[in-house]
Amino acid sequence: MSVPLTFADLKLEPALLKALAEQGYERPTPVQSAAIPFALHGRDVLALAQTGTGKTAAFALPILQRLHLQPHKQAGAIRVLVLAPTRELALQIHESFTAYGRHLKLRAAVILGGVPMGAQIRELKHQPDILVATPGRLLDLHSQGHVRLQHVEVLVLDEADRMLDMGFIHDVRRIVAMVPRQRQTLFFSATMPPAVAELAQGLLHDAARVEVAPSATVAVKVEQRVMFVERNDKLDLLLHLLAKPEVGRTLVFARTRHRADRVVRLLSRHGVAAGVIHSDKTQGARQRALAAFASGDLQVLIATDIMARGIDVEGITHVVNYDMPDDPESHVHRIGRTARAGAQGTAISFCDDEEVSLLRDVERLTRLPLVQDANQPWHADRIARMYSEGVKTSRTRAQRPQGQPRPKGQHRPGGQSQGHGAGRKRRRGGGQGQGGHAAQGHGGERAKRVVFQGRRRRGR
Ligand code: AMP
Repeated sequence: MSVPLTFADLKLEPALLKALAEQGYERPTPVQSAAIPFALHGRDVLALAQTGTGKTAAFALPILQRLHLQPHKQAGAIRVLVLAPTRELALQIHESFTAYGRHLKLRAAVILGGVPMGAQIRELKHQPDILVATPGRLLDLHSQGHVRLQHVEVLVLDEADRMLDMGFIHDVRRIVAMVPRQRQTLFFSATMPPAVAELAQGLLHDAARVEVAPSATVAVKVEQRVMFVERNDKLDLLLHLLAKPEVGRTLVFARTRHRADRVVRLLSRHGVAAGVIHSDKTQGARQRALAAFASGDLQVLIATDIMARGIDVEGITHVVNYDMPDDPESHVHRIGRTARAGAQGTAISFCDDEEVSLLRDVERLTRLPLVQDANQPWHADRIARMYSEGVKTSRTRAQRPQGQPRPKGQHRPGGQSQGHGAGRKRRRGGGQGQGGHAAQGHGGERAKRVVFQGRRRRGR
């Protein structure tokens, strides 16, 4: 199935498109592109997707469209039931339905445990079309006669694996028995252990299966752009970007420690004070650089990949890939440093004539084409053409040009990877950082696979 690039391509109604634009959503995330067409056709969907992938909109949008376009069979009936394991999740789902459906005449209500029932009972009297609920409270209110589920047309199970982990399996089965067998079921889970698969099998009928690889999940609020530029013009392009008013706290990734140091030197020659962190710096020097970056004393921090996870600084507006990463998973890691805590961020990748294949690797992994931005003085049309013509370039994830040795352990996920924050704990000169040439290759600084999970919405 081809991946549509816009919400309009997904054939969503203008009222929904308007709400999405107001939310600042520019294009569907992979799980949305994959699930929405099936759900709009009335198919059951089994989606393997984590929080943070945009999964809520993947079920909420087709549901809203269905309710909007298909008239009520029974006035005042609950037509959609969404089950969520936790109160926080239930509230977030309700919030999303309200936001996406704000231009439609539909009503959503949420019922959850741990708070008095009175307000929820009043909400139910207003005859919601959509009910979002945690299982326990739903059963309580049902047993008291406040909820009727016999007209439910769509049943959603969100975070089904967590639902089972939390011991809700019997509650879920009881609830499922209360909704009509003739219905559409949308089943979302981050993982698919046997118990979840069994539950899914019992609930779904001819379901379309949609899977989003967590390691390829890009923080959805990051706008990603690529700028084609000759290698020797990269510094000028960086200076040009840093001078723009909208470019604030900026994190720049270079392929090697050597290149990181060089960029810092060149920037300082042009009057831009930048910090640098990589594995050759002492712990103290790294912390000082991070603190100066976090406090705003330094606008720019240059880093290598091994440092990416140690950087949890708020307010990074831009991540610049001065060099494309040799390993596309590092790209996901790098750009996750921006758009933290729900903020918007921009990631700009500089792509020179050796890096075109690396750009394609990144796009293949994330399943998101980067937006080409030619609106800059050093745009290299020759490289843009190489990209569009599918030219293979010398630097690929498997091969290093110019006789650079492959750092040991590369492509062995367990090999050189480290636990969270380990980069900061490493002794100077320890591991493969010990002198020598090999340590300069990006592969020597390979980061562990990254899983973005619920960063933005959790803990809000
Ligand atoms: P979820 O995985 O549903 O918890 O969504 C994670 C976050 O991504 C939420 O803050 C959503 O508002 C946001 N989001 C969902 N879809 C998109 C999109 N297509 N573009 C931008 N942000 C999105």
